[in-house]
Amino acid sequence: MENKQFCQSCSMPIDHAELAGTEKDGTKSSEYCVYCYQKGAFLNPDMTLDGMKKLVREQMEIRKMDEAIINMAVGSLPMLKRWRKPVTI
Ligand SMILES: [Zn+2]
Repeated sequence: MENKQFCQSCSMPIDHAELAGTEKDGTKSSEYCVYCYQKGAFLNPDMTLDGMKKLVREQMEIRKMDEAIINMAVGSLPMLKRWRKPVTI
């Protein structure tokens, strides 16, 4: 089975090497896409989870994606590494 990689910031599938973000040393990031992460830093470091939800929804609506798929993508954002809150028990 194919191990599909999703950006841990915006949930976009990273299915081509050129869509992967880059680390400081120029290697490909295994966690973030090129729109979120370049040279080891986030392009929008001040982005919030709510801001990202809005952005992802807008981008998907532009592509006329199904409302159910949009809701699923937006709903999965809080689970991504960038937005996950540390769990304290
Ligand atoms: Zn991304």
